[in-house]
This record gives sequence, structure tokens and C-alpha cells, in this order.
Amino acid sequence: MSAPGQNGSPCLFCRIVAGEIASERVHETPTTLAFRDVNPQAPVHVLVIPKVHVAHAHALGDDSDGLVGELFASIRQVASLEGLAGADGVGEPGYRVVANVGTNGGMSVPHLHFHVLGARRLLWPPG
Ligand code: AMP
Repeated sequence: MSAPGQNGSPCLFCRIVAGEIASERVHETPTTLAFRDVNPQAPVHVLVIPKVHVAHAHALGDDSDGLVGELFASIRQVASLEGLAGADGVGEPGYRVVANVGTNGGMSVPHLHFHVLGARRLLWPPG
């Protein structure tokens, strides 16, 4: 069952969780899903999301510590699977984790997601 998104339409990422919209899944746990971004900004660009609908990082409650831990465990798994962690010697080690919040933060899909970007030298500051 998809949570409502903007304008009362079903949330895009809830529909991906439900399998109603196709995605290239790279990692999954009972509470989290990781899939490739359709518009990659780096050779590796994976989105890590909670399966439950949470609008954005600022909407996480004080009771969300367990979920946040599970999301970061998934992020670490993705980084290792994609050869970004450096431990397996694939490419340059290091990656970036980004969570955009709200309009000024550049968020376009209102379902909490962490971008995991890597496999190239990333610039700072971001735009
Ligand atoms: P943000 O702008 O931080 O909200 O990030 C949303 C991301 O979702 C963007 O990088 C989009 O390219 C990505 N995205 C949008 N639709 C899909 C989709 N159907 N499958 C995978 N990624 C998507």
C-alpha cells in the first residue's frame, strides 16, 4: 500500500518499494531498500530509503534511532558492494552521502532518501 505523495498521488518511492514501479535494486533488508538513481550524478549513484514512508530527514522522530541505524548499515553495505569503501581495492576509496531536505535543500521526491555517490572525485562545495 503506497503512502500519499504530493497532490494526493501515491508516493513515487513507496511505489518502488511496492514493486509498482521498476527499479534496479542493489541491496534490501526488511526495513530498507537501495536502488540506482535514474539520473546518476556519478558512476555510482544509489538511493537508500526506508521502506516505511518518512517525508524527509527532518521528519524523523525521536523514536527513529533504530531505523536511522538500519539505513546507515545499508549505506555501508552499498558502499562495500559498489567498491567505494576502499577495503577491496576497487577504484579510489571514498564516497559521499547526501540527504536533501525541502525546497532550498534541493529535495524533489518527498520520501526520505540518502544519495550514495562515488567512483569519481567529487567536488566541494556543492551547487
Ligand atoms: P532529491 O532531489 O534529493 O529528492 O533526489 C531524488 C532523486 O530521485 C533524484 O536524483 C532523481 O534522479 C531520483 N529519481 C526520481 N525518480 C526515480 C526513479 N523512478 N527511480 C530511481 N531514481 C529516481
